[in-house]
Amino acid sequence: MRKLSEDERYMRQAITLAKKAAANGDVPIGCVIVYEGKVIARGYNRRNVDKTTLAHAEIMAIKKASKVLGDWRLEDCTMYVTLEPCQMCAGAIVQARIPKVVIGCMNPKAGCAGSILNLLDMKQFNHQVEVTRGIMETECSAMMSGFFAELRAKKKAAALKENNGMS
Ligand SMILES: [Zn+2]
Repeated sequence: MRKLSEDERYMRQAITLAKKAAANGDVPIGCVIVYEGKVIARGYNRRNVDKTTLAHAEIMAIKKASKVLGDWRLEDCTMYVTLEPCQMCAGAIVQARIPKVVIGCMNPKAGCAGSILNLLDMKQFNHQVEVTRGIMETECSAMMSGFFAELRAKKKAAALKENNGMS
């Protein structure tokens, strides 16, 4: 088997975290932040569990990384995230001055790192982010479609059960 690249190894850790989110019934999105060759922060989507829109994987990881480094600036860090960041997270990435983000798969309906717009690379802001896209893309996108297929199947089963109960 082919040896995994460094990017793939970190993305695999982000995928593992995303699966924790799915186990909680949250959309599977995972994130790690790497500093000097070490993972210093992990995050996964906890929006449903924590009942707040602020609990996206990237925000959770940024909070932890800032705590570890004792600085709101994450200037020498690389973020790995399984799904293209939304507008809130892309904004936080720019605010934290993270220099590099590695993305698993894109999110055409909500992504703000190149899909709808690219907040990570606006020359009007004082910080631009280097972006790598498509690392372990197949795995990341299969995880998303698998999650939503399962969700639809569950809803359908629940609706059938309800219909049967009424007849
Ligand atoms: Zn987000």
